[in-house]
Amino acid sequence: MTDIAQQTALPYTDEHEIFRTSARRFFEEECVPQQAAWRDAGMAPRSIWKRAGELGFLCPRVPEEYGGAGADFLFSVILLEEQARSGAVSPMLSLHSDVVAPYLVHYGTAEQKSHFLPRMTSGDYVGAIGMTEPSGGSDLKNLRTTARRDGDGYVINGQKTFISNGITANLLVLAAQTTKPDGGRSVSLFLVDTDEVKGFKRGRNLKKLGQKACDTAELFFEDMRVPEGALLGGTEGRGFAQLMNRLVEERLMTAVAAMGIVDHALAVTIDYVKERKAFGQRIIDFQNTRFKLAECKTEAKVLRVFLDHCIREFMAGELDAAMAAMLKYWATEQQVAIVDQCVQLHGGYGYILDYPIAQMWADGRIARIYGGANEVMKDIIGRTI
Ligand SMILES: Cc1cc2nc3c(=O)[nH]c(=O)nc-3n(C[C@H](O)[C@H](O)[C@H](O)COP(=O)(O)OP(=O)(O)OC[C@H]3O[C@@H](n4cnc5c(N)ncnc54)[C@H](O)[C@@H]3O)c2cc1C
Repeated sequence: MTDIAQQTALPYTDEHEIFRTSARRFFEEECVPQQAAWRDAGMAPRSIWKRAGELGFLCPRVPEEYGGAGADFLFSVILLEEQARSGAVSPMLSLHSDVVAPYLVHYGTAEQKSHFLPRMTSGDYVGAIGMTEPSGGSDLKNLRTTARRDGDGYVINGQKTFISNGITANLLVLAAQTTKPDGGRSVSLFLVDTDEVKGFKRGRNLKKLGQKACDTAELFFEDMRVPEGALLGGTEGRGFAQLMNRLVEERLMTAVAAMGIVDHALAVTIDYVKERKAFGQRIIDFQNTRFKLAECKTEAKVLRVFLDHCIREFMAGELDAAMAAMLKYWATEQQVAIVDQCVQLHGGYGYILDYPIAQMWADGRIARIYGGANEVMKDIIGRTI
């Protein structure tokens, strides 16, 4: 083996590859053809979540005792990579399975796990995470949403915005400030069953530049009462540490998606430049095209090696916050730059939404901002210098 990416390749087994084939089929046959309709609707229907649940594509890592398959992390990587490679941005399965469910798996009480996790693997519950507020998303210590202890529960007041799956979700992991015994504030996370509570309102499904097939919503809490058992893990004040720990995996998964998008962008662009002609020759026959694609291919390979390294570190329990920040920053900068270059090689068609590359350009720009803006990633890395 001479290829460095092959040398560092992840330990995929036949079982993983069978799973990959069925995931690819699901995205290509059941999600890609629906993207235009879901863009018009502003979200995917609940039926596709149920379908994903039936096929074992929701929360594959959840332990068997809670209704999952107890699969390893590579199954989650495969699912997200195949979804990104297919070009289907919706439904946001990975947010549900790799961001929301792990809060329960890692920090939930036995009761919280047995209540929510089987329903998340079946698609009866769809998950969302509410951190960002209108006053700011980067500075998570300064949340304004409050949870006041009241008898045998909490009363929550505040507002969130930009919440992915915010219209669809009926399980919200909500970050709010609780009051410490000394009167100070600390962040706690709450599991809000939105079908069960009063004082919860959904606002607009926000109109976005891209990812129009995914719902992104404002959420309002007006004297919303939740039972004591809604406090994740049952202890107040652990929310900030829980968020910081889980953001490592969220950032790793953002990079997995970036890699899938890069693979897809290069594949459609290489096909295009081999077909399209200008000045009597194929676009690929211009040296500039080959040089640009050579640069993109090199950047993609470097990203693959770095990503696979970080996946291995994560699986060994060794991926730290700074490395995850480096990866998220690097992967999403490469994704956005490579997709932009691919648009250029498509000429005017690269700007027409009938062409997948145009859609990828619009859908992908947010990657440098969400999951922590890339400037915040540099701050995290900078603190280790
Ligand atoms: C489509 C979409 C989906 C999203 N999904 C979710 C979700 O499901 N749940 C959720 O909680 N949030 C979600 N978000 C919110 C997202 O995580 C935030 O937008 C992001 O964290 C940035 O927060 P902000 O928008 O408040 O920007 P601000 O915090 O106001 O920052 C604005 C800009 O200031 C700069 N900046 C900020 N801090 C620093 C710093 N320390 N150093 C240098 N520069 C800095 C950066 O350039 C940053 O982009 C989503 C956003 C979008 C658009």
